[in-house]
Amino acid sequence: MAHPYHHALSSVNKWGGNVEDYLPIHQWFDESKSITADFRHRALRHHAEGIFMAEKVFGTTITLSTGTVIPTRWVGEQHVKEDLGMIPSFADWARAIRPAPWMGRTQQLEAPTEKVSE
Ligand SMILES: [Zn+2]
Repeated sequence: MAHPYHHALSSVNKWGGNVEDYLPIHQWFDESKSITADFRHRALRHHAEGIFMAEKVFGTTITLSTGTVIPTRWVGEQHVKEDLGMIPSFADWARAIRPAPWMGRTQQLEAPTEKVSE
């Protein structure tokens, strides 16, 4: 599994600048490793919607230390493609989830109580 630093080095090779220009974006994609230490962590952000989420977090573009402006989505697309070889949709991940009974359970909602005025 590529470390965010290595993804950042790859970004430098593509668009110039330095590692620090890209590291926060690549770290954001892999932050989910703190939840699940194996590759399943990728289900949280490594998909098309995750790339658009990155744009909301980091802005539509980033300005590199060289002054060059590039779309944030380019960096997200690079990260996901380097990890998975493609950009899946979240639906691709969801299809891989084995349903368990608790996932579809619904609980009876409490009926609102009437206020009793005294
Ligand atoms: Zn990753």
